[in-house]
Amino acid sequence: MTIDQIYLDFDNTLYDTVSLSQDITAIFLQAGLTKEQFDETMTEATKGKSGTFYNYSFEHHVALCQEKGYVLSHDILPELSKLTEHDLSFEDTYTFLDWARKNSKMVYVLTAGNPDFQMKKIASTRIAEFVDDIIICHHKKPEEVALRKGDAKHIVFVNDKVSENIAVKEKFSEITVITKRHPFRETEEELTDSGIPYFQTLTEILSYIQKYGHK
Ligand SMILES: [Mg+2]
Repeated sequence: MTIDQIYLDFDNTLYDTVSLSQDITAIFLQAGLTKEQFDETMTEATKGKSGTFYNYSFEHHVALCQEKGYVLSHDILPELSKLTEHDLSFEDTYTFLDWARKNSKMVYVLTAGNPDFQMKKIASTRIAEFVDDIIICHHKKPEEVALRKGDAKHIVFVNDKVSENIAVKEKFSEITVITKRHPFRETEEELTDSGIPYFQTLTEILSYIQKYGHK
């Protein structure tokens, strides 16, 4: 069985962004921000004022704190920059990618966010060795798939964000969409109601694809 295209999300699909966020939180709190101030600025720095434009960077987050008059005890940018030097891929990320490379004609990473920040995280991993292209977009994943789909018939799309997965499935019912379960964002009910198969790990996702294939 050969798959034509596999689209893989980056954050919380191939890479443990929750763990990175915990480290970011610790640095801001140690520098004197309250948890409330941190949460407020993190949300705004990640999603922008509109709530839909993914554009996080450390510089942007620190600048936002300054704009709001939230005082940081020292320059935390050097500490923050160090965080993206570690490979935070999941333990089964490379096994999954190796399988994907061997079993799909094309393998794409499709990720939303600030291009520099995304590339910094990706560069700390070996993911680029396994994929054909890395696409950094701003929250329009179905459109990004549409641009590349052509007449490909067997397509697999793996991502942790259920709302995006539903959007892809609604636009392309023929695509095998699989949810890599985020550790706490969606409820069990939301996952079940989506009608999209969901799993905790890439290992389980790989077994599912191998067992049931793709349409
Ligand atoms: Mg994600």
